[in-house]
Amino acid sequence: MPYNCWFECVRGCGRRYSVFDVIYRCEDCGGLLDVEHDVEALKHRSPVAWMRLFEERTRSNEVPYGSGVWGKKEWIMPLVENDNVVSMYEGHTNCFWARRLGEEIGVPDLWVKMCGNSHTGSFKDLGLTVLVSVVKQMIANGQPIRAMACASTGDTSAALAAYAAAAGLPATVLLPRGKVSTAQLIQPIANGALVLALDTDFDGCMRIVKEITKDPTIYLANSMNSLRMEGQKTVGIEIVQQFDWEVPDWIVIPVGNLGNVSALGKGLLLMKELGLIDKLPRIAAAQAQQANPLYLSYQTDFEEYKAVQAQKTLASAIQIGDPVSYERAVKVLKRLDGVVEQATEDELSNAAARADRTGLYCCPHTGVALAALFKLIGRGKIKRDDRVVVISTAHGLKFTDFKVGYHDQALEGVTSRYANPPLELPATYDAVSRAIDERFGK
Ligand SMILES: *Cc1c(COP(=O)(O)O)cnc(C)c1O
Ligand SMILES: [Zn+2]
Repeated sequence: MPYNCWFECVRGCGRRYSVFDVIYRCEDCGGLLDVEHDVEALKHRSPVAWMRLFEERTRSNEVPYGSGVWGKKEWIMPLVENDNVVSMYEGHTNCFWARRLGEEIGVPDLWVKMCGNSHTGSFKDLGLTVLVSVVKQMIANGQPIRAMACASTGDTSAALAAYAAAAGLPATVLLPRGKVSTAQLIQPIANGALVLALDTDFDGCMRIVKEITKDPTIYLANSMNSLRMEGQKTVGIEIVQQFDWEVPDWIVIPVGNLGNVSALGKGLLLMKELGLIDKLPRIAAAQAQQANPLYLSYQTDFEEYKAVQAQKTLASAIQIGDPVSYERAVKVLKRLDGVVEQATEDELSNAAARADRTGLYCCPHTGVALAALFKLIGRGKIKRDDRVVVISTAHGLKFTDFKVGYHDQALEGVTSRYANPPLELPATYDAVSRAIDERFGK
């Protein structure tokens, strides 16, 4: 195996660990750990040869290389044997050309990367396929692991439970009671995980799971564990591949715990280092105003950082006040000339609904990204000629209560400008005919 990777301390102290060690922070300085690759070995293949290899594998039935993550195995996790890869053909999600929405808002080259068109309905599948595969390899190597565990705002737990079930491995998920959608709650239940609903918020669940996973036989599956980032970094690579290896001008992404944006940057920077691209896109990170520690820090040019108490937001998957990957994300945003924008409940809901009117079906987090996009266009930051890709992080079908509430005009703090409630009519020709004429003219 010519390729290699390891955990390395992000604070630059130089300490390295095996990716098969049960470790989440540097033993010397307490820094988070990133997966680093033997980039010299990767450079032995030319940029064109990498592109050709990735193209050949895309959506093929050659297990596991047809997957969007494992098709780039050498860049992601070369140390797992193919037999231990737990894949559900994640990745290779389509880019939706948002033609009508783009024309309406004055950025015709607008695309939406549909990461929610995935096995469990969110981009979290990309990270969990890598983490669960590494755990399967560890167990095959004889390491004593009883279960995987995570705290979650709903999507991580769904993905962990699904991949654990596919691998035949035990998993437990800690959820803030009453703060995840019905669809998100039922997913890990259906997949047989031990589901623990706790009277706290995400940050509270995170504190407990950190305590629990001090026991090395319970393996932590949160994004503090950077194995997840390796799979998630394919999103940026895939976007460039989908545009025939051309880099867009902007990528807009909704952020909470900040693993996602860090991973996006990591993938793009690796592409640049290996010579597949020669420029980088700019990144716009979008937060809910109700949970906006990164936005507040950005206002000080990232000089200051304070955790906040996350307030209730419809964008429940990003209701996080103390993001674990803050340091990683700031590094990436500085490298990619990033900006941070925020959206109120009213803005995110109406942005999602407006996009739905043009054929999308947006989750509230995608609504946050779109609302941020509208503001950045309004302020002239994003320009008419820019190619913009918005990352849609989850499928709208996971957030039915949000959609129903919106169209019933029942969301707190939201004026539903695009509400389209059903008309309840008597079952007569006259009533139906009148309703059609009123709506469409005669
Ligand atoms: C997890 C998640 C995010 C945010 O990703 P982070 O890595 O926590 O920043 C955004 N949207 C959805 C739907 C998610 O599940
Ligand atoms: Zn260190």
